[in-house]
Amino acid sequence: MIQYKLLTPGPLTTTESVKKEMMTDHCTWDDDYKQITQTIRKKLLNLAHVKEEEYTAVLMQGSGTFGVESVITSAVGDHDKLLIIANGAYGERMADICSHAKIPYMVYEVNYDQIPDAQKVEELLQENSEITHVSMVHSETTSGILNDIEAIAKVVKATGKTMIVDAMSSFGGVDIEVGKLGIDFIISSANKCIQGVPGFSFIICKREKLMECKGRARSLSLDLYDQWETMEKDGKWRFTSPTHTVLAFAKAMEEMEEEGGISARSERYYHNNRLLIQRMKEMGIQTYIGSKHQGPIITTFLYPKNHQFSFRDMYEYIKERGYAIYPGKVTDADTFRIGNIGEIYEEDIMKLCDIFEEYFHTIH
Ligand SMILES: *Cc1c(COP(=O)(O)O)cnc(C)c1O
Repeated sequence: MIQYKLLTPGPLTTTESVKKEMMTDHCTWDDDYKQITQTIRKKLLNLAHVKEEEYTAVLMQGSGTFGVESVITSAVGDHDKLLIIANGAYGERMADICSHAKIPYMVYEVNYDQIPDAQKVEELLQENSEITHVSMVHSETTSGILNDIEAIAKVVKATGKTMIVDAMSSFGGVDIEVGKLGIDFIISSANKCIQGVPGFSFIICKREKLMECKGRARSLSLDLYDQWETMEKDGKWRFTSPTHTVLAFAKAMEEMEEEGGISARSERYYHNNRLLIQRMKEMGIQTYIGSKHQGPIITTFLYPKNHQFSFRDMYEYIKERGYAIYPGKVTDADTFRIGNIGEIYEEDIMKLCDIFEEYFHTIH
């Protein structure tokens, strides 16, 4: 088996020590295990800068999409209407979730290389008074753009609507003042910036809004309120919990604290991201997103112009030398993506860029 590091934004490269945690088969009804769940929930609230009296954390089996679907299908009632702000595939997925569950919604669609405009959101809320909830993605992993949730939260909160944020690929890697912004539901998952392995998502919910979800869910297993109600008692998961993933996540949270918390992690991601963009630019490779809105998580690069270029060839070449990159996902340009979250350091970025340089020479 070829060993390589992942430059994909989840699953991502984890530490040996996080992987080792999964060597234990843990009992689920045991007090020790329930305590691990409770500690994770408490620490998540700290990372979100919210108080336990006002907010609560729910862990939900499945990948990130399960978390987003759980929130939308539990929080938006049959007589409510969700405004979805979308500038990428993950925003569009929220509309797909609504279609499947027959939840009333409308979409404010924005080009993939642009951020949504808070003033436009304000207008939409004024023109469509039936809207009760607004949802958006923070770091659109489709392109790597970082949306301005602060500006949008401000107008959403001013009108008293419920705010849902998919911060899947940014939570823990970009500091978010969830309480100050008044975000009601924010979603992320185990295998992104906290650097655990896949298996569950988590939702930080404003208690008051979560209480309104009681009896509203369209799905049994994704019922956010019921999941919370069981977990809140003593840390027991409602159905079989992904024990190995939970143990790995608890370890990953400890390691994040050792690194220096969100600020240190964010700095490492930003530094590596800017270094990567700089070195690619020196090779003539441009980013799809302009520097003003480029986030620190993942970067979309345009295909080089002057080469006989095949993404497959390049992917194999780089993989043989120790790194796995990502194909592009935007629809209006030929691109590839490089994520820099996970256990990735400056030396990896330098090495990766050397490999790119070598590869571009071979096809020149
Ligand atoms: C990873 C991710 C998701 C969830 O995707 P899954 O494949 O279900 O884990 C959702 N939104 C964003 C922005 C993401 O980056």
